[in-house]
Amino acid sequence: MANAFTEFFKKSIPAPLVFSIFSGLVIGTSFGLSIPLILLSNSERVASYEEVAAVSMVEDALRLAGRSNSEEESFAYVTLPGVQKYDGPRLAQSMPIETKETWLSWMSRNRGDDPVFLEQRWNWAQNLVITSELKRPEDVRAFLLTPREHFVRAQNKGLEYADTWLPIGYGATITDPDVVSMMTTTLNVKPLDKVLEIGTGSGYQSAILSYLTKDVYTIEIIRPLFLETDALYRKLERNFPSFSVINRKLGDGYYGWEEYAPFDKIIVTCSIDHIPPPLLRQLSPGGIMVLPLGPPNRQYIMEIVKNEEADGSITLSRRDVYNGQSVKFIPFRDEGGVSYSTPVIE
Ligand code: SAH
Repeated sequence: MANAFTEFFKKSIPAPLVFSIFSGLVIGTSFGLSIPLILLSNSERVASYEEVAAVSMVEDALRLAGRSNSEEESFAYVTLPGVQKYDGPRLAQSMPIETKETWLSWMSRNRGDDPVFLEQRWNWAQNLVITSELKRPEDVRAFLLTPREHFVRAQNKGLEYADTWLPIGYGATITDPDVVSMMTTTLNVKPLDKVLEIGTGSGYQSAILSYLTKDVYTIEIIRPLFLETDALYRKLERNFPSFSVINRKLGDGYYGWEEYAPFDKIIVTCSIDHIPPPLLRQLSPGGIMVLPLGPPNRQYIMEIVKNEEADGSITLSRRDVYNGQSVKFIPFRDEGGVSYSTPVIE
């Protein structure tokens, strides 16, 4: 895999025009100078988080903290200091994966998975290791632990481990496993990383992340979808306690999640033709962002690394992680449903 990565780095893959324009503004300039350039008039639009509706998954904890949850929309989910967080990465490390048999017997002893799906998940993950970028042992473990069958919605029964994206209602989709594996690999999540996902959707990507770090944050803009996935996580927490570490918020992910910034890693799972400046600001120096970047009709999966130079200036490096192949993600939209990308006239 190291070789494949080196190859990617060596190739200079043409990126979409819009990205070139963007990078021209940023790369090689100091961060302080470049951000205002990119922001232009957007700087006034940074969300007030009071405006952004949010629902907590830990009503009890909030009550303990003396905050009523009756006004569902008045606060963001709060991670309380001192509350023990379930250690998904530790569980993942303790899981034997040498053979299918040892794995199956460990899974049936330790978890509540349906055996039929366990068998399917093992075969599917093995296939992904061969056919996709899924190679890093930590990522393979996370894929093996995450019950995709619960995140694929009922109307797609039978396709839980199919190699395709699937509709999940509200015009959203659960991402193609090949693309999930590539984006997850690119993030290179370490157990102490704080990771933000934009576009919770089905909840599958954040569920994967919860086996890679205890610090997962995810934002969804479609209210009924947010509530559905929030309820799903609550339901699954009993058998899959690592989902309890997923901090989730209903709101516009364009503005990130200021209270918890900076993030070591940011994964954007909706498409946009520029990098949202607030997300760039909320990325730690040395941090990695992965996003489907490009015009509305096609995007490229880009890795953006925010580097801090010795003189304190910030530069960005970029890489097309899908080797020039284009994808089509659900649009990154605002609360009025309008895409953040400039429409394309064909
Ligand atoms: N990561 C998801 C993929 C969901 S598809 C999964 O694993 O299933 C993309 C999602 O991005 C959709 O649910 C869409 O509603 C959401 N989205 C679009 N614009 C958004 C925004 N401004 N803020 C947060 N989420 C957004």
